[in-house]
Amino acid sequence: MERALERFLRYARIDTQSKDDAETYPSTAKQLDLLNLLAQELRGLGLKDVAIDQYGYVMATIPSNLPATHPGHGKVPAIGLIAHVDTSPSTSGADVRPQVIENYKGGDITLRGDPTVVIRMAENPELTKNIGKTIVTTDGTTLLGADDKAGIAIIMTAAEQMLTNPNIMHGDVRVAFTPDEEVGNGTKFFDIKRFGAQFAYTVDGDRLGELNKETFSANLATITVHGRNIHPGTAKNVMVNSIRAMADIITRMPKQIAPETTEGYEPYIHPHALQGEEAKSTLKILLRDFNTAGLDVLKKRLEDIIAEVQPLHPKARIELTITEQYRNMRDHMGNDTRVLDCLWEAARRAGVEPKWVPIRGGTDGSRLTEKGLPTPNIFTGGNNYHGKTEWLSVYAMEKSIDAVVSLVQVWAEKSLPV
Ligand SMILES: [Zn+2]
Repeated sequence: MERALERFLRYARIDTQSKDDAETYPSTAKQLDLLNLLAQELRGLGLKDVAIDQYGYVMATIPSNLPATHPGHGKVPAIGLIAHVDTSPSTSGADVRPQVIENYKGGDITLRGDPTVVIRMAENPELTKNIGKTIVTTDGTTLLGADDKAGIAIIMTAAEQMLTNPNIMHGDVRVAFTPDEEVGNGTKFFDIKRFGAQFAYTVDGDRLGELNKETFSANLATITVHGRNIHPGTAKNVMVNSIRAMADIITRMPKQIAPETTEGYEPYIHPHALQGEEAKSTLKILLRDFNTAGLDVLKKRLEDIIAEVQPLHPKARIELTITEQYRNMRDHMGNDTRVLDCLWEAARRAGVEPKWVPIRGGTDGSRLTEKGLPTPNIFTGGNNYHGKTEWLSVYAMEKSIDAVVSLVQVWAEKSLPV
């Protein structure tokens, strides 16, 4: 059997960076390099119904191995396992050269491709837990792509174990690999019906033992200021400079309700992207709250700011629009608590201390859960996602494999008639 680490290293070297605002799906064709490879490898491992659709979604089945005489035969719900192939547009994913550090001794790690990039112990308390163990870093010039190629390696290795070890008793298990998660489109064309799982898990978390059943609820606010442009030489009493009005708006954004000053369950208002010239300025603002109704409170804050700024710029026209992005998966998780209970139990059986951690962001599971497929998230062992200091704990990755293999067995046991 190929070790999960070897799998991960192979996948990490394939450039699968996705791209914002693309016209195509997937956003970059190179994601298909890995998606096609995975389809081929799934067939090689002996999974059934392996298919890649027109959008690039790869799906496959590990059929139930419960014998007809088993009391759970035909009663265990189909369980889905999902990971994404793309890496973040924020840092290059080309020519990734993973550095494997065996028997990590502790201390800061200076990356050989760019000595200015240092993984510091002070900023990475997880490193201490990996002393004497194997970790993987970048060479300092790219991201690593543990997000989410660690998840792919975990699912592939767990699938191989399920197919080769008859002692692992399980119902139908469905596997999916998806493109474009990092650009918010991972589930855009995901066919939940065709997937056919009743409950699913994304293997796309980070630190050892961390499980996620809650994400932010998210809206995008856009403030547009319409001014009036004219040559500056003849602008007196005519020009309405939208940039000045926008600046007054931005200075009023609450600094105590910002990503830089909040954590845990605290909400935020985050000015995120700005474009402007005299005639028109546009500001995109991320509104985030675990409590979905709280998004209206954040919107009200923006309305109050606009109401205060408008009289200072009477000739400017200020607009606010709100677009729904995703919802806290907790809102739609449903009444069947097995999806969470089985995950908790599986992590314990893998010998880790499970912990529910709220995600200050969204996952593909946020949208899948909203669309009717409850999909919490499991740790992979990755750290510092989307940047050059990204690193992977191989120990945590292996624990995640154990948890996933336990998960399908716990489901088979919990679904027995009592
Ligand atoms: Zn991810």
